[in-house]
Amino acid sequence: MDVDALQQILKRYWGFDDFLPLQREAMQCVLEDRDSLVVMPTGGGKSLCYQAPALCRDGFAVVVSPLIALMKDQVDGLQACGIPAVAVNSTLAADEKRDIARQIESGRVRLLYLSPERLVAPRTLEFLQNQHVSFFAIDEAHCISAWGHDFRPEYRDLRLLRDRFPDAAIHTYTATATEQVRGDIVAQLGLREPEVLVGDFRRPNLHYHVARRERGLNQICSVIDRFRGQSGIVYCITRADVDRTCAVLREIGYSALAYHAGMNDDQRKRNQEAFLTEQADTIVATIAFGMGIDKSNVRYVVHAGMPKSLENYQQESGRAGRDGVEAECWLLYSAGDLMKWKRVLGNTNGEARGVAEAALEKINAYATSVTCRHASLIEHFGQAWNHGPCNACDVCLGKLEVVDDALVIGQKILSCVLRVREGYGADYVSLVLTGSREQRIVSAGHDQLSTWGILSEFRRQDVRQWIEQLVNQGFLCKDGEYHLVRVTQAGRRLLAQNRRGLAHIAESSEQNVPVPLSADGSEIGPMLLRPAKQHRAQSPAAILDSWEGVDQGLFDALRQLRREEAIRRAVPAYIVFGDATLRDMARRRSSTVERFLEVHGVGQQKAADFGPQFVDCIVAYCQPHELSMDVQPEAATPRTPSVPSASAVQAFPLFDQGLSVEEAAAQLGRAISTTYGYLESYIRHRRVTDASRWLSRKELEQIEAVVQHAGAERLKPIYEALHGRIGYERIRIAVACLANQSAAGSNVSQP
Ligand code: ADP
Ligand code: ZN
Repeated sequence: MDVDALQQILKRYWGFDDFLPLQREAMQCVLEDRDSLVVMPTGGGKSLCYQAPALCRDGFAVVVSPLIALMKDQVDGLQACGIPAVAVNSTLAADEKRDIARQIESGRVRLLYLSPERLVAPRTLEFLQNQHVSFFAIDEAHCISAWGHDFRPEYRDLRLLRDRFPDAAIHTYTATATEQVRGDIVAQLGLREPEVLVGDFRRPNLHYHVARRERGLNQICSVIDRFRGQSGIVYCITRADVDRTCAVLREIGYSALAYHAGMNDDQRKRNQEAFLTEQADTIVATIAFGMGIDKSNVRYVVHAGMPKSLENYQQESGRAGRDGVEAECWLLYSAGDLMKWKRVLGNTNGEARGVAEAALEKINAYATSVTCRHASLIEHFGQAWNHGPCNACDVCLGKLEVVDDALVIGQKILSCVLRVREGYGADYVSLVLTGSREQRIVSAGHDQLSTWGILSEFRRQDVRQWIEQLVNQGFLCKDGEYHLVRVTQAGRRLLAQNRRGLAHIAESSEQNVPVPLSADGSEIGPMLLRPAKQHRAQSPAAILDSWEGVDQGLFDALRQLRREEAIRRAVPAYIVFGDATLRDMARRRSSTVERFLEVHGVGQQKAADFGPQFVDCIVAYCQPHELSMDVQPEAATPRTPSVPSASAVQAFPLFDQGLSVEEAAAQLGRAISTTYGYLESYIRHRRVTDASRWLSRKELEQIEAVVQHAGAERLKPIYEALHGRIGYERIRIAVACLANQSAAGSNVSQP
């Protein structure tokens, strides 16, 4: 059994053309019976790592999963692809269990899902020992470790598997990647020289944004509007917030439902079902929602208030875009959120409270920070970010711009804080700075201060934001129950930098304290950001690409059909087809079931089950709209063009620095041919139009001449017309630049 056979299985059952990163390696371990520990982020495609190889092994695989909801979801998904999988859990009646046992004995079942406690029950072990278990797959394996965020003592009992099934390999899967947890998994389960595979934790298809909450509901609605008719989650801090937000959204016509632990079980379950089957678009919820929900096509996650910790944020926002299609994550916060959480913590005691408060500080720092969101998140989880701007967060997309005169502005703010005798909160200070004549300001005489109105040329919200950023950077701090803003030691030193003639308003008694220097000898000053006046008009390449060629009207029609099929079969809509698949359908517009099989994410079972209805729907839509059918998109899978591969992205900074392909290949330790592939991806994503950095003028002229005659659709005719003088790799580079030129509608070269 080799990798080719696996690839055929992927295509036949799941309709996938290729492996996701590390899937091939992880499956190889299963085929070779080598124990493994696979660490991949949510959405990385862990389940396929054991599901696909289970189909080419004798016997059946035993999959351990902590939650009934997770098992059900996977079993539904597998059955929809025509794969015999079963789950045994407490919801089954005795005769259903007997029926499953018979199916297993008859040798039909390929995957058996069990909870850990059921697996280690003596009767189950005895039964399994008389069957042919091909291997064990332990999902959410971090549950075995007390260091993990989700310790489940019953996972500890799994250690007896090694003794009871000495010949079966054990494969473990988790999204939690700390060293401690990894070590624990290996030790507790007695894995034998396991292959440890750790994936890339970046989620390039997620677009992260952070904003202060101002007219919060408008902010939420504008996200929902952008994804009208698609699925999303809005998280609120308290149950009351959930009820209120959901009620208003419904009132103004949104398809929203609430979910929190204060609702009765029945109602909660119904709302969750409605969200999963896409009868409702938006679920408004507390963090009680989400655990064990695998819905892959969540297009946005909005936090209407500050999350509890960065770990929570990563996990909750990570529920967006598990299908690899782009999705947005918004964090809307206000200073009051911290207080709110502290109230929720109530009288949690000593140490636990300390831990919780430290976690709140971290997420607060994230919200007010001015570094790339992707970088902040993955660095928090112990991975290094060395990829330059992510092009998928508010900071990198230039939605925020750096303020030029941050030092002077910072000093003005600090002096104002001192002028009001450090006795007021950030809101008040920002009002004074922007010249408000509010009653309380006038009666305190603060309209007479030299710092009153000293920043009146700026928007108050921006000034308010800068105060937060100065707190975050340690020049200010907030004190006591009322969060009075005070100047720190570092702030006082900053004020002492009076080269710019601000001495007259600097009130510090420590004016002669030397200015701190950073490592490179420059003065440490504040960095202030504000929303850019003009957002860059061009949306990130990812968004353009993955909707490329998709007919929106047809997409909506297919989505409606998907919803009907999901209801008919009582399964979540994404079990029928994922969003990426629906888009590819609306792009290819297949006129026959046979052509329908070419769609990304359509395997044989689904083509048989759903092909006729979906093809009918496509034909019925395309004919009156005079849309062409059976279109062959340029790149077969929509997944690839939307996001460059993680390894390709590593090469981007090298190309930015002007390294040649050979130099980049040497630095990355990759083959030259592979590096050419990265370069091609670089050219596409950066929309580079000038190939003269990599090809000689003469080569370019020759290629261009041939392309003018032969077109650029196929490379072989170009190669042949040039009598093999220029290799395919170089032709590809030239063609990619030419395509960007024509897309840009001109022949202007990039500098
Ligand atoms: P995880 O368990 O790691 O969170 P899943 O196994 O649920 O991830 O997979 C996430 C998504 O990726 C699913 O929608 C799945 O269908 C899709 N997927 C998995 N493998 C592939 C593949 N080889 N090609 C395309 N999509 C894939
Ligand atoms: Zn970024």
